[in-house]
Amino acid sequence: MIDLHLHLDGSLSEQDFLYLAKKEGICLGKEFPNNIYVPMDCKSLEEYLMRFDLPLQLLQSKENIAHATSSLVRRLYKMGYIYAEIRFAPQLHMQKGLTQLEVAKAALEGVEEALKECDGFEANLLLCCMRHGAEEVNMETVEVANKLKGTRVVGVDLAGAEAMHPSSYYKNIFDLAKEYRLNITIHAGEATGSDEVMMALDNGATRIGHGVHLDTEKDGPRAKKEDICFEFCPTSNLQTKSLKTYADVPLRAFMDKGIALTINSDNMTVSNTDVYQEFSHLYQTFNLNKDEVYGFLLNSINYSFTSEEVKARLRVKLKERIDKFYSQIAM
Ligand SMILES: [Zn+2]
Repeated sequence: MIDLHLHLDGSLSEQDFLYLAKKEGICLGKEFPNNIYVPMDCKSLEEYLMRFDLPLQLLQSKENIAHATSSLVRRLYKMGYIYAEIRFAPQLHMQKGLTQLEVAKAALEGVEEALKECDGFEANLLLCCMRHGAEEVNMETVEVANKLKGTRVVGVDLAGAEAMHPSSYYKNIFDLAKEYRLNITIHAGEATGSDEVMMALDNGATRIGHGVHLDTEKDGPRAKKEDICFEFCPTSNLQTKSLKTYADVPLRAFMDKGIALTINSDNMTVSNTDVYQEFSHLYQTFNLNKDEVYGFLLNSINYSFTSEEVKARLRVKLKERIDKFYSQIAM
């Protein structure tokens, strides 16, 4: 499996919570572990985002951040994943004095350490700017991504509540990212409409996080022409009330217009899911055949921000494993 849209803070395991909370002397609350998963009757994206308070409290030291990335990489490898891009916002890990560069380097360290024991698995990192973040802080995120070019930091993102902070506010930040020729993905068209996706494209995004509210008739042609890839995360969309049911995932509408899409988990813990489960829901809803599943996974490779050399290796691996992946989701 492959996950291109996976948040670190939303994907700590129960064991990570227990280990880190004990280490930090933080109480997980009587409701643990239920309080780390979002309920399906969650009301909005804003309520969904509240589930990140506790994990973020635990991820304020280099050691803990490295522990989290290392643990996630090992878990994905054990689950049979072949590639993942893990994202996080360095600015949310500065409560105890770390700089954004230190946060990113700690995350990298954890990934590198885990990969030594995950033969054949590949993982990279994306640094998120935040919609509620100050411009100079978001600028610093872009600077850090540029400084770490050539490492496993392969791009930048914009995350957070989009309804209150439209993408157009972030033009300066993404102008800088474009100047540095950084790969850009932006969360857009999740809690808002197609205009937000178009603004994200104006900002240089080549991938869109979610984008399920793209008006495929009006704006689909531009997305197709600019060869944009969409990172669908269905369960998360149901929980944030961005979509009502799996049948509302605009899978066929995008496919009919020839727009590239991928299937991702968003947050393995907060959404209590993984890419197998996401595919499984869509398999049941849309009766996906093996070629379609293969096509989505091939998109994940082709539109990933990794090197051509790694993409070539992943394509070989996908061919070898597609039968197994399909049998795992078609149950
Ligand atoms: Zn996301």
